[in-house]
Amino acid sequence: MQPLLQPLTETISVSRRLYEPLARLGLHRVIDLLNHFPRGYSQRTSIRDLKPGMHASIVAKVLNASNKATKKRRMKITEVTLDDGTGVLKAVFFNQPWLVSRFQVGAALRLTGPVEHEYGSWSMKPYGWEFADPKGEEDKGLVSEYPLVEGIASEDITGLLNLALPRFAALIPDFLPPELGARLRLMPPEKAYKAAHAPENKKQLDAALLSLKYREFFLLQVGLKLSRRDEMKDAALQIAVDDDLRSRALKYFPFEMTGAQKRVCEQMEGDLTRAGRMQRLLQGDVGSGKTAVALFASLLMVGNGFQCAWLAPTEILARQHFANVSRYLKGTKVRIELLIGGMKKSERSAMLGDLQFGRVHILIGTHALLEPDVKFSKLGLCVIDEQHKFGVNQRAALREKGNRPHLLAMSATPIPRTLSMTLYGGLDVSIIDELPPGRKPVRTEWVHRSREAAAFEKIRREVAAGGRAYFIYPLVQETETVDAKSAIEFAERLKNEHFPEFRVGLVHGQMPGDEKDKIMEAFRRGDIDVLAATVVVEVGVDVPEANVMVVENAERFGLAQLHQLRGRIGRGQRQSFLYLFGDPRTEPAIKRLNVLCQTNDGFKIAEEDLKMRGFGDFAGTRQSGVPKLHAGDFEKDLDALVQARKDAANFADRIDEQAIRDNLELHFGKEFRLLGA
Ligand code: ADP
Ligand code: MG
Repeated sequence: MQPLLQPLTETISVSRRLYEPLARLGLHRVIDLLNHFPRGYSQRTSIRDLKPGMHASIVAKVLNASNKATKKRRMKITEVTLDDGTGVLKAVFFNQPWLVSRFQVGAALRLTGPVEHEYGSWSMKPYGWEFADPKGEEDKGLVSEYPLVEGIASEDITGLLNLALPRFAALIPDFLPPELGARLRLMPPEKAYKAAHAPENKKQLDAALLSLKYREFFLLQVGLKLSRRDEMKDAALQIAVDDDLRSRALKYFPFEMTGAQKRVCEQMEGDLTRAGRMQRLLQGDVGSGKTAVALFASLLMVGNGFQCAWLAPTEILARQHFANVSRYLKGTKVRIELLIGGMKKSERSAMLGDLQFGRVHILIGTHALLEPDVKFSKLGLCVIDEQHKFGVNQRAALREKGNRPHLLAMSATPIPRTLSMTLYGGLDVSIIDELPPGRKPVRTEWVHRSREAAAFEKIRREVAAGGRAYFIYPLVQETETVDAKSAIEFAERLKNEHFPEFRVGLVHGQMPGDEKDKIMEAFRRGDIDVLAATVVVEVGVDVPEANVMVVENAERFGLAQLHQLRGRIGRGQRQSFLYLFGDPRTEPAIKRLNVLCQTNDGFKIAEEDLKMRGFGDFAGTRQSGVPKLHAGDFEKDLDALVQARKDAANFADRIDEQAIRDNLELHFGKEFRLLGA
């Protein structure tokens, strides 16, 4: 295996001009090159056999090449007509007028790219080209196309692989239990690597890719299991919970927990009282009461002499958690503190001193918690609220402040089950699927411009009857290019034109933190009836009396974001209303608003969101800390993934652990080590 880890440029002969592009592609070691799989394959064919839309690779001779005049000054078009003996094709190049002098009549070129058939003739906008030997190109196979950067071509990578594969492919170990490989008829790694880079035909290619993908998923799944199991031996954070502690912890809440909350509390108690670490992802729709559950776990830890850290994505949210938890724990000995940016130096350092001596039990805060001078004496639990708002490195940084403390990650952006299995393979998932009693589903209506006046009347009646209303705006300042209504201007108009009889407030992202907080507090207390706001209220803010929300220019918001916003209302006994103002022009925007009107179910909305936006864009996936796969794709290869996951569980006792560990290091290295964070 050792040669696979050698620097590429010292192991095979690499042209100097490629050093820098290879580094930019992240191809440093031999194994990196071998794991650099094609992003696609084109069909080596003759012009006679082309089909419209085909990704083709042809070899043909130049009949003529010329630059065309275009209307756009910046656009230069070069047309090259080629003949391969079976037919004629026109290749079109953009903004490379110098090509004309290189493409001498009679020269043989290999061109790859998608082909079109129009007005009886073939054309191609090539992705790549090279001079070719017209004789040596008889075989009709597949041509690999690699992910590239400036300065390196697919042919360069093929050239390097031609040197590397014969020498090193055989060294790639097979970590699968042999019976499993045999049962699934998987290609051995050497053959699979060779075939994936230089396939002889489609059938062989498919078999090679499947074998590579499956192995990759299997490796990650087993790796996750192993790292969890290693931890299970460690009893450093194991706590004891008796009836007394449990009932004392529950007594602080002014309500009875829902069935779902109780179930999660039991699960967590199980985690905390066993050896090992809790690593739990708690999913629950907005307003389902995740905070109470987190506090329960925290109180169990505090009762056993440990400290807890709560990390929130915004200052408003941190302050709100602090206020709520303080309220619940009033008159107890549990000391809670708030840490946010911009605190007075003297206050901050006094508090941090107390923290270091264990006199602060629960520290709630923003990113400020991650500062190096924030030190705990005995950190036992990290609670990360809206965890998808944090990157894997931030989560790791917080946990490094203790001896790998227990982790409770919370998210109101529900992730469909198949995805959470893969993205958070290392986490146990709990779901709160029940809202506190007495909640009425929010009624959502999409209000056309012409009917806004009626909506305003309705809102007036609600507020007059004791309700409170949010008006949400997409932007703070109106800009010339974007015709969004600004919150500032609109707050004025709300006050003067629409609601002269009510108290109107404004909160937006550019305000200083304490001012934001003052306004939110006034709204919570009821000193403000109508609150104009930007999306700073998106996450977590809890004002049970608020029962109306208007979203201006709703078409500008994403589906998940609108659902999050909706979660700010419907938190009390009163019937709540969401009015989506807007004039969507595009199909997806119309669809988003319709989905929102049709369902209140966060999981359904998440699935719709996923369908519309695709996996790569899904909230949190980019930052989730999942290693970048070489061969597999979490979205497209779900079948192979599910199979590998099942097999990883069934074959657990027949796995060569050392081989798995070595291979994780070989293929993923540091990326895998971060995964458990
Ligand atoms: P989430 O963080 O899941 O969006 P919160 O924890 O902020 O939700 O809870 C939303 C509101 O519901 C809070 O006002 C909280 O006090 C209240 N709540 C939580 N659990 C219950 C319960 N079991 N019964 C009644 N109210 C509850
Ligand atoms: Mg919350």
